[in-house]
Amino acid sequence: METKQFKAESKRLLDLMINSIYTNKEIFLRELISNASDAIDKLYYRSLTDKNITVDRTKLEIKIDLDKENRNIIITDNGCGMTEQELENNLGTIAQSGSLAFKQTNEKKEDIDIIGQFGVGFYSAFMVADKVTVESKSVDSQDVYKWESTGAEGYTIEKVESTQNNPGTKITLHIKPDTEDEKYSEFLDEYKIQELIKRYSDYIRYPIKMDIEHSHKKEGTENEYEKVIETETINSMIPIWKKEKSKVTKEEYNSFYTEKFNDFAQPLKVIHSSVEGQFSYNALLYIPSHLPYDYYAQDYEKGLQLYSNGVLIMDKCGDLLPDYFGFIKGLVDSQDLSLNISREMLQHDRQLKIIAKNIENKIRTELQNMLKNDRENYEKFFNTFGMQLKYGTYNNYGMDKDKLKDLLMFYSSTEKKLVTLGEYVSRMKDGQDTIYYACGESIDKIDLLPQVDSVKDKGYEILYLSASVDEFVMQVLMEYEGKKFANVCADNIDLETAEEKEELKKVNEENKPMFDLMKEAINGEVDSVRYTHKLKNHPVCLTSEGALSVKMEKVINSMPNEESVKAHTILEINENHPIVKKLKNLYENNKDDLKEYTKILYAQARLIEGLPIDNPTEISNLVCKMIAR
Ligand code: ADP
Repeated sequence: METKQFKAESKRLLDLMINSIYTNKEIFLRELISNASDAIDKLYYRSLTDKNITVDRTKLEIKIDLDKENRNIIITDNGCGMTEQELENNLGTIAQSGSLAFKQTNEKKEDIDIIGQFGVGFYSAFMVADKVTVESKSVDSQDVYKWESTGAEGYTIEKVESTQNNPGTKITLHIKPDTEDEKYSEFLDEYKIQELIKRYSDYIRYPIKMDIEHSHKKEGTENEYEKVIETETINSMIPIWKKEKSKVTKEEYNSFYTEKFNDFAQPLKVIHSSVEGQFSYNALLYIPSHLPYDYYAQDYEKGLQLYSNGVLIMDKCGDLLPDYFGFIKGLVDSQDLSLNISREMLQHDRQLKIIAKNIENKIRTELQNMLKNDRENYEKFFNTFGMQLKYGTYNNYGMDKDKLKDLLMFYSSTEKKLVTLGEYVSRMKDGQDTIYYACGESIDKIDLLPQVDSVKDKGYEILYLSASVDEFVMQVLMEYEGKKFANVCADNIDLETAEEKEELKKVNEENKPMFDLMKEAINGEVDSVRYTHKLKNHPVCLTSEGALSVKMEKVINSMPNEESVKAHTILEINENHPIVKKLKNLYENNKDDLKEYTKILYAQARLIEGLPIDNPTEISNLVCKMIAR
């Protein structure tokens, strides 16, 4: 019998399979089962249009047998089968989609990715088998043909004598001997195979059957047992996400989640949607109740499982989720996606893009509803994942800010809890055109800031921002419903009457020589020194001017690889505070003391802002000198 050679590129793929170092060799079973299922589909559809073909729907099935002794796995289907020519064409040459993915790949690492993410169909059998035999009877032929290959050497096709009447295909994999690194024998284990079927092919629409050995008590005996073999269907056939929502209990949703996504904790929310239309798909999404433990690890991979009509084709399809929803777990199943679609194609897949957009909208709508109708849960959600939404708002120069701004929450000085920007605006005082915020390390510390005190005193609500990213978020947002944002610690807040401002301007001009001396005393660390009326009880504060606040300066300077920056700052002194008299007096009579006092005041202003001081020893000595007086 003539041994035929594989087509060149098939041979390359085959070599890749035979010598594969890919660890997930188990996917071969998924591939073969999926082929079997497709073949049954084909036969069934043929029967709908061809009067000569009759199919008993109830008998359509895939059978898996294990023959440990001979090290064989046998996969049988009663699908459309293959003619001699089809065996030659289909198994001698790899499918077009597969070859495309293969051709564009050169590096080993990517080879492995291709195997893992897209499967490579029939040839994956060679990852675990050293000989593959395919016996097939086509629906279009009376004869049975046998295709056989031990891999790279080529393959043979011959006609075999058979009494088989019905179309179908039987694939026998002779499992490789175990090596030090690979225990191929595990694929001959009944439990292992059952587990693989459940994991990868649970939702195949045809029953996948296996003969399972059970011990039964012998009839009429006390405790004598006999082994009975029963044929069982291993797969559930109906995926939970294809069931009607009303037919699935909360427990079912939750246990599916904990098993599938290996999370010990119940999810915070389940989102189940079925979309019919130009592109149909089912999506089952979960918001976890905590951050994935490896969320901040370098190799955390966001993504949803992707199914093509019940068959898993990709474990983590990152393109289905925007980064800021990267913590969402779940899956998407679409019958319109091809099983062997390559990564490159998947990335450019228009349909996938549309699905991704729909999913993003769906998640957002659900979160919005949760915020409206289930505040308690939303706050839980926000406490856990709010940071992701804030980064999402800020990243890419605020490209997505409009999508996310209504989901953001900040702590409110008046409500003493998290509020949305919408809520803040709805409560604004008559004539108020600014959303006030203040930044600091913690809510408590912000509450103690001198500038906060006076704005609060005038009856304004202030948002307390305690996360480093918060202030950057405000800068990107720029405004909300036409109201601009203002940092109460920056100088652009304007709560005084025109008269008050005029008066302050006058005293500041009058005292300019003194302020210049004070600025000189602290080596020009600040842009200027001046009086203010915005402080209630505190004597001093440090205010920033321009886009960069003192807090942002701190955040940016704490980041590695960033050039250090400096905010424009002003040392402000409460004009109504008793120290003012003293300062004026010293300016007239003792300029040296004024300089020393200025250093202390500046150090205080920095400490209140949570900033370090460069010269703690000097300040300490100055304070002690004062005490000793
Ligand atoms: P793909 O499934 O992507 O086409 P495969 O390499 O897995 O690529 O299979 C190649 C072809 O072989 C299939 O397209 C199909 O026509 C045929 N084939 C594989 N398995 C079977 C089977 N069990 N029954 C009938 N035809 C099959």
